[in-house]
Amino acid sequence: MQKHILEIIYLIASVTFIGGLKFLGHPSTARRGNLLAAFGMTLAIFGTLFLYQTDQGTSLKNLPFIFLALGIGTLLGFVAAKKVQMTAMPEMVSLFNGMGGACAMLISLIEFQHIHEKSPLIILAGLIIGSISFSGSIVAWGKLSGKIKDFNLKFQQYISILLLLVIVYFAYDVSCLDASTLTTSFYTLLALSLLYGVLFVFPIGGADMPVVISLLNSFTGVAAACGGFLYDNKVMLVGGILVGSAGTLLTIVMCNAMNRSLLNVLIGNFGGSAAASGSTGGSGIQGNIKELTASDAAILMKYAKKVVIVPGYGLAVAQAQHVVHELEMLLESEGIEVKYAIHPVAGRMPGHMNVLLAESNVSYDKLVEMEEINPEFTTTDVVLVVGANDVVNPAAKTDPSSPIYGMPILDVESAQHVIVNKRSMKAGYAGIENELFYHAKTSMLFGDAKKALTQLVSEIKALG
Ligand code: NDP
Repeated sequence: MQKHILEIIYLIASVTFIGGLKFLGHPSTARRGNLLAAFGMTLAIFGTLFLYQTDQGTSLKNLPFIFLALGIGTLLGFVAAKKVQMTAMPEMVSLFNGMGGACAMLISLIEFQHIHEKSPLIILAGLIIGSISFSGSIVAWGKLSGKIKDFNLKFQQYISILLLLVIVYFAYDVSCLDASTLTTSFYTLLALSLLYGVLFVFPIGGADMPVVISLLNSFTGVAAACGGFLYDNKVMLVGGILVGSAGTLLTIVMCNAMNRSLLNVLIGNFGGSAAASGSTGGSGIQGNIKELTASDAAILMKYAKKVVIVPGYGLAVAQAQHVVHELEMLLESEGIEVKYAIHPVAGRMPGHMNVLLAESNVSYDKLVEMEEINPEFTTTDVVLVVGANDVVNPAAKTDPSSPIYGMPILDVESAQHVIVNKRSMKAGYAGIENELFYHAKTSMLFGDAKKALTQLVSEIKALG
């Protein structure tokens, strides 16, 4: 009886995961989706703890220890998620993903002796993929948080391929053993998989890190699905497969948005250390820039009919999402049409701008995707670019030697006037200069986004 109730609980939990994922597809329902899936996961955990029985009819032991671990994990996760800044979200996702990989690795490590006979290949797949995901995610977290510096080994790719072959050899060796105890080969396999994860992530450029995190996320999903297969646990299997496939799809979507192949992301070095430092001071492009004051910008905007705001990473850094919403409402109260142009990779993770603007209650119907807004720029009077750079760089269309060549971008230069707000002439994440800043239609409004927009709002108000 208990067993059947547990199966039903697993079924309900699996449905909540699928429903949760569906809701995550739109900003207005994303929060609900997250809560729904979390509810399903809680149900599955407590169902397992209280209803699971072995074939011999015994229940789970060591419940106090399990609850202690659950309590500590929940508290740490809750505090970390509450404290994290939106700009640091990719590194937190990476850290949490690493924990998932570590779980899959530990399951294989512990269960190898017990259920090795049942399915050695699945245990080893869980061990290898989980270990790669764990060590790779930790390196990704370290690189994004600036704790680990970029490091490039000579012949990196060849070493990685060789290592992968050695891992396959050891996996074959271990799977052939009639092992009731853990062997040296098993530990060697574990160590090599961990090393592979490190070498896999080390050479990847900073701006490509979210793509790699998404890929590692799909690895963790596959490793968890291996665990589900091992334990014949349907909810773990479904959860793992969903994470694996969602991570793979997200990786593909991000690569498409940057118009780059996954191979190019993995072996290219777009946004690597030199670029990410933003050290290019802005001297390669011939021409002059025009600077304007907040009061000039206020006049341009107040007498416009249509304004499009382009948010970028700098808006998130400056935490200017509330003041940008205030500006939008002020302009609308003057009868001006205002929209936001959302580039799929603006910021540092997919959906970054949507989440940020949702935080300040910007209405979802004002957020317009790149394909839809691009034809509208010709009828736009003023474009206000706030802390965005690469996503409005025309070199993506015109310069085949540019690292962002081919990346679809926002055609802001088709508007009547372009105002660019940033602090200096420094490059964005791809580390390249931007011709847009020298364009005849462009004026630069220098300063921190929050301060500059606050001033802009008061100047527009002062115009009466
Ligand atoms: P960029 O990193 O290209 O540019 C951001 C700009 O914001 C900088 O040039 C900086 O200039 C400015 N800035 C920084 N702080 C402030 C501040 N406090 N106030 C005002 N301006 C500020 O950002 P984009 O959003 O245009 O492009 C995103 C980049 O990240 C792309 O290259 C994309 O490919 C990459 N990427 C995005 C992913 C995603 O999933 N979203 C994934 C992988 C990569 P200054 O220092 O002069 O102020």
